Amino acid sequence: MLKVLYIFIDGVGLRPAAPDNPVHAGNCPALCKLIAEHSVSIDACLEVEGLPQSATGQTAMFTGTNAARQMGRHCEGFPGPTLRRIIHKTNLFIELTRKGRRCCFADAYMIDKISDLEHRRFKSVTTVMALTQPETILMRDDLLENQAVSHDITRTYLVDKGHDLPLIKPHQAAEHLIQVARANDFTLFEFFLTDLAGHSRNYQAACETLIMLDQFIEIVQALCKATNMLLIITSDHGNIEDMGTKSHTRNPVPLVAAGPGAEIITTNASNLTQITPRILRVF
Ligand SMILES: [Zn+2]
Repeated sequence: MLKVLYIFIDGVGLRPAAPDNPVHAGNCPALCKLIAEHSVSIDACLEVEGLPQSATGQTAMFTGTNAARQMGRHCEGFPGPTLRRIIHKTNLFIELTRKGRRCCFADAYMIDKISDLEHRRFKSVTTVMALTQPETILMRDDLLENQAVSHDITRTYLVDKGHDLPLIKPHQAAEHLIQVARANDFTLFEFFLTDLAGHSRNYQAACETLIMLDQFIEIVQALCKATNMLLIITSDHGNIEDMGTKSHTRNPVPLVAAGPGAEIITTNASNLTQITPRILRVF
């Protein structure tokens, strides 16, 4: 039975080579090869003026609704009440669960029970979506058993915050992610340090983030291929590909699909809203 791994990388757009574009084969050869050989370029601006933002972009990605047009603007960061309503009504996890598919959000929350998450004031689009199907949520114990992945891949962020757990290499995190993906039908992993690096305007930091991410992606891709899993990679808007500005960009984003059913994901794909319906079609 088909298994799908969807890696959502925040803030990575497509832009021709330039001295302030760190997204090149020198930093991220595996990602660049996937983009060159297995992707289409899609629009993240959603027919709305201004710079695309995370809350509306991700809602479009995970619900299939043009949330930016519905809001009349691009909304930053965490979704407010209207966007949350859109996500609650339907999303990728709800629809796949309805089809009898087992879904998982592979990013570990450092909590011991779901209610600890429900009470958080600021919730990302992915957190709001995961809470609509709480069985998708992985927690501290899962991470300790290597059955989940830290959002920053190596767990450096968690260790710096005082959590007691071993640091791991990107290739180990990739192996953990594939284990999770093999135990589920659809697995989502979200990585947002690329967006933070883009906002920092620190070119060196952006390169380091991309190099680490690429070591992870290289192994993820090899293991997806070895296990005949469909790998999807995309982003919600541009940012890191233009370190000359600390804001997002209106550049298109890559939609990578490699493996069984890849052509259903990418053929004639033109914008973020098409990703969810196409994933549903693959299943
Ligand atoms: Zn974003």
